[in-house]
Amino acid sequence: MPIIRVALNVPVDTLFDYAANDANQRDIGLRACVPFGKKLLTGVIMDVTSETQVSPEKLKPATCIFRENAPLSPALLELFHFCSHYYHHPLGMVVMNGLPAKLRSTKPSKIKKSPNSYQFSLTQLGLQVDITTIPTKNTVKRRLLTQLNETGVISYQQAKQCSSSALKTLKAFIALGWVVEVPVQAAVSKDKPSIPPLTEEQEIVVNAVSTNIGQFNTWLLQGITGSGKTEVYLRLIAQTLSQGKQTLVLIPEISLTPQLEANFRARFPTTHLISLHSGLNDTERFSGWLQAQKGDAKIILGTRSAVFTPLPNLGLVIVDEEQDNSFKQQDGLRYSARDLAILRAKQANTPVVLGSATPSLESYHNAQSNRYHHLRLQTRAIKNATLPTIHCIDTRISKTKEGLSEPLVQALKKCLSQKHQSLVFINRRGYAPVLLCKSCGWTANCHRCASRLVVHLQNKKLSCHHCGHTEHFPRACPDCGDPDIMPFGQGTQRIEDALVERFPDARILRVDRDSIRRKDAWQNILRRIRNQEVDILVGTQLLAKGHDFPNLSLVGILNSDVSLYSTDFRASERLFIQLMQVAGRAGRANIPGSVLIQTEFPEHPLYQALKQHDYDLLAKILLAERKMAGFPPFVYQALLRAEAHNIDTALDFLTDGKRFAEPPQKVELFDPVPAQLARLKGQERAHLLVQSHSRKALQRFLTEWHKKLKSSASSKVRWSLDIDPMEF
Ligand code: ADP
Ligand code: ZN
Ligand code: ZN
Repeated sequence: MPIIRVALNVPVDTLFDYAANDANQRDIGLRACVPFGKKLLTGVIMDVTSETQVSPEKLKPATCIFRENAPLSPALLELFHFCSHYYHHPLGMVVMNGLPAKLRSTKPSKIKKSPNSYQFSLTQLGLQVDITTIPTKNTVKRRLLTQLNETGVISYQQAKQCSSSALKTLKAFIALGWVVEVPVQAAVSKDKPSIPPLTEEQEIVVNAVSTNIGQFNTWLLQGITGSGKTEVYLRLIAQTLSQGKQTLVLIPEISLTPQLEANFRARFPTTHLISLHSGLNDTERFSGWLQAQKGDAKIILGTRSAVFTPLPNLGLVIVDEEQDNSFKQQDGLRYSARDLAILRAKQANTPVVLGSATPSLESYHNAQSNRYHHLRLQTRAIKNATLPTIHCIDTRISKTKEGLSEPLVQALKKCLSQKHQSLVFINRRGYAPVLLCKSCGWTANCHRCASRLVVHLQNKKLSCHHCGHTEHFPRACPDCGDPDIMPFGQGTQRIEDALVERFPDARILRVDRDSIRRKDAWQNILRRIRNQEVDILVGTQLLAKGHDFPNLSLVGILNSDVSLYSTDFRASERLFIQLMQVAGRAGRANIPGSVLIQTEFPEHPLYQALKQHDYDLLAKILLAERKMAGFPPFVYQALLRAEAHNIDTALDFLTDGKRFAEPPQKVELFDPVPAQLARLKGQERAHLLVQSHSRKALQRFLTEWHKKLKSSASSKVRWSLDIDPMEF
């Protein structure tokens, strides 16, 4: 009797065995529905054997095996196995979370085809059918065949117009092999896509990758903003398409970069492209997944989780903005989509291109030490477009009023008079980050998190940006009763108010998470910017990423000093990346740009490197610091995270964990400490850092330790391992 070993979405580290009469080796990778306790669950068959540890009287039969779709490929299953081992997460949960929601249900996964997405096409066999042999009373049959002979294809709509029984007849044609269903081609635009000749630099880069297109290599493409990385991607994709292969393109957030998708569609108008992002419903997502699995979809554009898409014919992997934090999942399976993308390329023996203006220090270090190939684009692609000049405004000398210094105000004024756009960047939404009582020093704090409540003046609310809790403005200080409580510090709304005050005639637009909440808001904003309906933009990092605003010539940066002396060792890297991105918005087309940074530390090496647009300079300084201090990428880290109602419960769990850890010499365990955000949503958080110079030694230790932790943990603690943690 065959036994199927099934991965189920339950938090234990085993597969579950069931008897299945009709199972064979070819079923590995198919879904099965099985009884589990009193419920039915769906899982994936990871193995088919004849042996099991389960005693015969306890072995239950599987309810059914779903055979309507192709099984998951061995490569995808291998990827799931890797994730489970490397991230120390139960295999069943890895597998099931890697699938679209539709495939997690206990029902067969048929999807209704949207009538507009498919049409009927005559086959070679169908072409040979002699219509005169069909009896004249079969009018529908005759009419359909006649039309098919004329046009080759019939859409659902046309078929329905022809007769109410037309679809039935067409099904019969399909059964006879006369007709096949094919996806409707995307509307082909009449204009031929205009393909610019490559710049010299682009050409070198494209050639380097394309002469090695049939083999695995990791290419770090470090290109300044505006250097034309997208064009490099497009050329490499074109080459991959010409070989009939699929390209996986991972990007941080599709909704924020509609331009990229539009660029891709414009360049490859007849290519089957799917875009996988958070805006899709379950059916759309599953449909895209299936098209990828069948090999029909040739370009798969997606965010983090798209790295789990089945790609039977993968030829190229691209990770744009590879340094972006959103590639790291921050709960459940805490994977890095960038790292997994590299693994997928390796599995398929294809190149992977990591693109960025400011690579992560990890990738930069890998390129410097020749593990990756380093490619560079150092000039802007558009002729005459130059990099913006960057200056610091010393706010110890030029004091700010409502957040704005006089030199910045003057620069904004000049920009307005020249009818250019400007951007004031402050990475904090809301009116002010703190509500403060001047008499006693009380501040409004979230009762669920160890954080301050942010003042939102528009709706007279205080809101926690960590848990979403909101409350009304107090009339007076709850501690001392003084009614004189004041918002302290600046947020986007306050700067917006200050700008309105200073420039009453200017058209000012604020762009942050609050202003883009409504559907389509983001599209509207981008349109207004492009149509020059905006003079001054005030915004957060939402505006920093990948947008091309040709008329923007001035960027003002406020309050970036707060990240200069943070306790987080990645803070400088992130700040620099963010500022490089924002600065990159200025002067993209034919208008020279300038960037003004308000700071109390104009001599700081970070600003010095920024002024010279020299990422390499800063990267080298930061890497030297990290090497001295023993931080990644010079060590590998893992974090044991614990959460409990009570901080002592969390710390005790970690202390116990440390006590029975028995790390080998190569692995170092630190003391348990409270997390940077020590309380979140009412849960106290603490962690314990483990690190090693050897990834292998670290992994070996974690595997053993993980087992012990599981047997010791009390139900009062929620804990997890975070491998290569990004947040502390
Ligand atoms: P990046 O992603 O590197 O910041 P983009 O890909 O957005 O840069 O390119 C910046 C601008 O340069 C875009 O407007 C793009 O159309 C243009 N561009 C790219 N390559 C070329 C080229 N070879 N010739 C002319 N313009 C180009
Ligand atoms: Zn008070
Ligand atoms: Zn909160």
